[in-house]
Amino acid sequence: MNVLVINAGSSSLKYQLLDVDTKEVYAKGNCERIGIEGSFIGHEELGGEKQKLEVALPDHKTAITYVFDILKDINKPIGGIGHRVVQGGWYFPESAVVTDETLAWVREVAPLAPLHNYAEADVIEICREMFPEIGNVIVPDTAFHYNMPERAWRYALPRDVVDTYHIRKYGAHGTSHRFIWRTVHELMGDKTHKLVSCHLGSGASLCAIEDGKCMDTTMGLTPLDGLIMGTRCGTLDPATVFYLNRVGGYSIDDIDTMMNKQSGLLAVSAVSSDSRDIEEGAHNGDANCQMALDMFYYRTAQLFAEMASSMEGVDTMAFTAGIGENSPEMRAGVADRLAWMGVKIDPAKNEIRSDEPRVISTPDSSITVMVVPTNEEYMIALDVVDLLG
Ligand code: ADP
Repeated sequence: MNVLVINAGSSSLKYQLLDVDTKEVYAKGNCERIGIEGSFIGHEELGGEKQKLEVALPDHKTAITYVFDILKDINKPIGGIGHRVVQGGWYFPESAVVTDETLAWVREVAPLAPLHNYAEADVIEICREMFPEIGNVIVPDTAFHYNMPERAWRYALPRDVVDTYHIRKYGAHGTSHRFIWRTVHELMGDKTHKLVSCHLGSGASLCAIEDGKCMDTTMGLTPLDGLIMGTRCGTLDPATVFYLNRVGGYSIDDIDTMMNKQSGLLAVSAVSSDSRDIEEGAHNGDANCQMALDMFYYRTAQLFAEMASSMEGVDTMAFTAGIGENSPEMRAGVADRLAWMGVKIDPAKNEIRSDEPRVISTPDSSITVMVVPTNEEYMIALDVVDLLG
């Protein structure tokens, strides 16, 4: 079955058309700067070159119309559409077929992720209107975390506040963590029961997974919590917000922008949010870049131990996403801080570059350490087949 996977943001729309049976990706691309001057579509087809199509994209409807026009030429009938939804809120313990009701839920929980959910709901609606013969599936990034134990998701705030505003740990990257569990389990079989999946990209989160069930994760009500990320600060004392507001005179919106867009590795390194630039800076003796790396290793190792504690043990660690898949230096930096736990990686295996999942720990390591390239689009497509197949 061919599935079109759509990942819509407020000003972008990523798409991928793939065959779930063969895993072949026929086409993929990104509509960028929707509603902003200078919009374009970056498009790539199986065996072809990347193309940049400069087209006016005043809104998401125009973008989808273009995408379907481009895909028409490939001549692969679309059996279903899977929509990545950032926030499933209190409604989605798993993926769901789009109906009037489930679509309304995506909008109802949108205040938790306003930049994403409204655009995603609009795009789902447009797809339903334009192609009523094709089924649509909602794949929320939070669904995998929905059933974690209450002691993990509940915040120690007054119960009426928690209930009224649906405040809890929702987590994120759930589709990626679910894919990582699936892949590790396929490869390791019974050797893996307690996995810490380390999704380290420009957004980053860890997830404790015991026999396929999420036990805890590092992102919270929103994806600002947990690890230090490219431009996000991760966990800090919540009173920092009151202090910046009352004493620093920053508005709540200023603080929101500061903590989401001007913090993290970018702020500490004062160079870049990209780990490659920071590694280069550190090699050239830049002390701020070195501190950014040290803090990243420190926090990742610390939260790894927190995830292990939530499962009362850990047997497997898997690195994934931009940094986790591509940076031997970052992997070694995190693993070295876990040497006290008996974690040992093989330096030669750590240097290997490959698109295949692989073990990089030594045979005598207390924990099996792996690199597992993530594939959220494939996981979304599998859900579409399961629900519409
Ligand atoms: P997201 O999907 O959250 O935007 P990614 O998982 O694509 O992020 O990760 C992007 C980050 O991965 C980059 O900002 C960069 O810091 C890091 N990275 C390190 N090496 C590479 C590489 N070879 N290719 C891509 N990203 C890399």
